[in-house]
Amino acid sequence: MTIKYELIQPTTILNKLEHENEIFISRYSLNPYLGCEHGCQYCYVQADRYLPFKKEKDFFRVIKVKTNAPYLLKETLSKFKGKEIICLGTFADPYQPIEKKYNITRRLLEIFADLGFPVHILTKSDLILRDMDLLEEISRKTFCAVSFSLTTIDPKIAMMFEPHAPPFQKRLMAMKKIARKKITTGIILMPIIPYITDGDKCLNLIQKAKDVGAKYVVPGELILKDNQKIRFLSLIKRYYPHLVQRYQALYRKGISPYPTYNWRISKQISAFCEKIGVLQHIPIEKL
Ligand code: SF4
Repeated sequence: MTIKYELIQPTTILNKLEHENEIFISRYSLNPYLGCEHGCQYCYVQADRYLPFKKEKDFFRVIKVKTNAPYLLKETLSKFKGKEIICLGTFADPYQPIEKKYNITRRLLEIFADLGFPVHILTKSDLILRDMDLLEEISRKTFCAVSFSLTTIDPKIAMMFEPHAPPFQKRLMAMKKIARKKITTGIILMPIIPYITDGDKCLNLIQKAKDVGAKYVVPGELILKDNQKIRFLSLIKRYYPHLVQRYQALYRKGISPYPTYNWRISKQISAFCEKIGVLQHIPIEKL
C-alpha cells in the first residue's frame, strides 16, 4: 500500500469534548496526525461523520502531519487555568510509523513534561518505548497513563482486521516495560468483535495483559455506522460467511450489538476481571 504524507499547519490543536468519557478520561484530545497507517478495518473513525477525507480509503493512505502541533500546544497550554488530562491519540495512532521521522508526538510529550501536564496516551505501537524517559518524567511530576489498544491475540484474526498494526506480542512487551517503570498502563479492549474475538478469547487476552502488568481493562463493543457498517459486513461476508445472518440479527436495532448480547459479554468480562484483580476503569492516581 502506497502512503502519501501531507504536511499541514492547523490553526488549533486541542479538541474539546462536551463530556469526559471512560476511555479518554479527559475532555481534551490531541492528535498529531490525521489518518492512520495501521489500517484497522473496524476503526470507528471510518464512519462517515468522522472521516476527515473524501474517500474512505484515504484515511489509511493519506496521512496528514500536523507539523506545527508542538508550537500550538505550548501556546494553548500556557493559557490554561489549572491542569487537565489531555488524551493523545483519539483519532489516529500517535505512534504510527511516520512518527519515527517527524517526532511530533515526542515533541508534544516534551511540552507536557516541561509544564507538568497530565497525559493519557492511546496507542497500538511499541514505538512508545522510545519516549520512556518522558513518560517517566510526566508520571513522576503529575500523571501519565498508557493504554494499549488490543483486540485479539490471534495473528490470523489480526491480519484480517488490523493488518498494519504492530503484533500483539510487541504491544504486550511494551506494556511490560512501561509497567515495570511504575507508569499506569492497561488495555482498551475495543472493539470486541462479536463471535470472533469474544468469549474465552477475550478472557485469555485480559489474562495475558494482566500477566505483563496491565492494571485495567476498558472493554468496548463494535460500533457499526453508515457506510462503515456496509464495509465491515462485506468483510464478514468474505472471511466469515457463516456469520452474516448472525451479524444481521445482532445489529438489527442499529449501530450497537443487541442489548442482550452486550449484557452477557460485559457480565462475563466483569466477573473475570474481578476474579483476577483487574480494574475496569483507568485509575487516576494524582494530578
Ligand atoms: S490504530 Fe486506532 S486510529 Fe489507527 S486505524 Fe487502528 S483503530 Fe483506527
